[in-house]
Amino acid sequence: MTNQRIKILEYLRSTRIHPGAERVYEAVKKDMPAISLATVYRNLNVLAEEGEILKFEVNGEAHYDGFSHLHSHFVCNGCGKIIDIELEEIPKYALKKVRDNDLEVHSVKIIFDGLCRECRRNKNE
Ligand SMILES: [Zn+2]
Ligand SMILES: [Zn+2]
Repeated sequence: MTNQRIKILEYLRSTRIHPGAERVYEAVKKDMPAISLATVYRNLNVLAEEGEILKFEVNGEAHYDGFSHLHSHFVCNGCGKIIDIELEEIPKYALKKVRDNDLEVHSVKIIFDGLCRECRRNKNE
C-alpha cells in the first residue's frame, strides 16, 4: 500500500461520518499537501474494490466508510447525516436468502432514511 492510500484509510477509520471524496481530500491534504483530488478518488475506488472500505451512494453522491463489517445505515433527510446502525441480523438473513439462489454477493447495502433525533426535535419545537 502506498503512503497516500494508508493515510486515506487511516482518516476513514478515524471517523464515523461517512465522508464524500472531497471531504476525504480536504482531510488528507493537511498532511499531504501534494495529493490531488483525482488521486484521492483513485485510491478510494481501489480500497473499496479490495473490500477495505465500503462505498455507497446517498442522494447521488458517493460516500465512504472505513468500517467494512456488516452493518447498516440511516440517512437523515433533514441534515444529511449518515448514522451507523449496528444491525447484523437483517443483512445476515438477507445474505443467506440471496446465496440460496446460487448468487455471488459482493456487498450488502441497507440504507434507511428519515429524521435523526435532533431534526425530529427541531421539527416538534
Ligand atoms: Zn438530522
Ligand atoms: Zn457505516
